[in-house]
Amino acid sequence: MRGSHLFTKTRREAPKDEVSKNAQLLIRAGYIHKELAGVYSLLPLGLRVIKKIEQVIREEMEAIGAQEGALSSLQDPDIWKKTDRWEGKADDIWLKTKLANNTELGLAFSHEEPWTRIMQDHVNSYRDLPFSAYHFAQKFRNELRAKSGLMRGREFLMKDLYSFSKNQEELDSFYEDVRVAYENVFKRVGIGNTTYFTFATGGVFSKWSHEFQTVSEAGEDTIYIDNEKRIAVNKEVYTDDVLKDLGLTKENLIEAKSIEVGNIFKLGTHYSDALGLVFQDEDGHEKPVVMGSYGIGLGRLMGTVAEILSDEKGLVWPESIAPFTYHIVSLAGGDEATEARATSLYEAMITRGISVLYDDREVRAGEKFADSDLIGIPYRIVVGKKSTDDLFEVIRRSNGEVLSMTRDELVGG
Ligand code: ATP
Ligand code: MG
Repeated sequence: MRGSHLFTKTRREAPKDEVSKNAQLLIRAGYIHKELAGVYSLLPLGLRVIKKIEQVIREEMEAIGAQEGALSSLQDPDIWKKTDRWEGKADDIWLKTKLANNTELGLAFSHEEPWTRIMQDHVNSYRDLPFSAYHFAQKFRNELRAKSGLMRGREFLMKDLYSFSKNQEELDSFYEDVRVAYENVFKRVGIGNTTYFTFATGGVFSKWSHEFQTVSEAGEDTIYIDNEKRIAVNKEVYTDDVLKDLGLTKENLIEAKSIEVGNIFKLGTHYSDALGLVFQDEDGHEKPVVMGSYGIGLGRLMGTVAEILSDEKGLVWPESIAPFTYHIVSLAGGDEATEARATSLYEAMITRGISVLYDDREVRAGEKFADSDLIGIPYRIVVGKKSTDDLFEVIRRSNGEVLSMTRDELVGG
């Protein structure tokens, strides 16, 4: 893509009411637009990052055998009434709406109920189990505080995965697969080192749930980390009894603020009991399906990466989720030979399918560099009057390292 074609502009200042670093940076660099508190729209650069994150997650879900669907975010109150989540405690979180004839509808804050009901049509006998299904879907939550930018939206994209098993052992084994898949996701998007498998409240169905918590001052959670074991305990469950249970000692734990990037739950038969999702076992008995649910917020993940991998100059994307891999910055300044050199390199790269943004705008070099730092593409190729047709200066955004690369190396010849 050509910079002169990209409609988004960078800006020096974020909106005054935006207090979170991730949203400030992403707005200034032209990735997102703030509609309302907790409501953000994706601009072309932001959409590219979300699509990359989506693909990383999709590959890890497919690797554990999960199948992708796509459910509506408009929800039928009936099934939520059966699980007692339409009114009462869940009331604060719902955004509800009505049809013209006054029929109530829910705007999805989660999808356990609809996925469970769908499976009634597809599960009969033990031969149909186990399996798992996931989707990427918009969620709506009436979040009380929405001051953390993309990390706490009132509308956000979530990948949620649901597993359907015959018994506890099958669930436990799949749960372990998901743990590994999640660890791969967080590694691949560049936060593996700072993300911990964390013991958290389990709700009514199991002793624990597990969160994936990324250490960051911008986080809303507090965890206690055992660095040797690479696990952590959420403050919500941090008691002497729990530590004893997990074989942890207080002296070895470090307190840290953190961001919950993922959460996995063993649901047991809670939803299948309530909604009547049963199967015929080998012995001919009818049994409830044993379920699990597993979520990752894509916006929260993007916000987390923006938050912790950025520096004073701007965003610093890992290659895996960067909107582009290369950023050609042409310093032609009216010099035709330089411009021709930059354009020729750009055209050769796109012909080879290489992901590249070409800053061909007629603006000062200083402005181009500042924009390029802010946008945070992993490699900047500087084409100036001193470049030759064959040798280019390439600067790695993450550490400022200057590489000298030939045209063949860049074009992948
Ligand atoms: P939190 O405790 O942070 O409110 P939660 O426990 O309610 O989150 P889950 O229902 O477990 O979240 O949702 C699964 C994942 O969805 C979370 O781990 C997080 O990555 C993401 N998520 C949850 N709420 C939001 C939100 N308001 N904005 C963006 N992502 C979110
Ligand atoms: Mg949670």
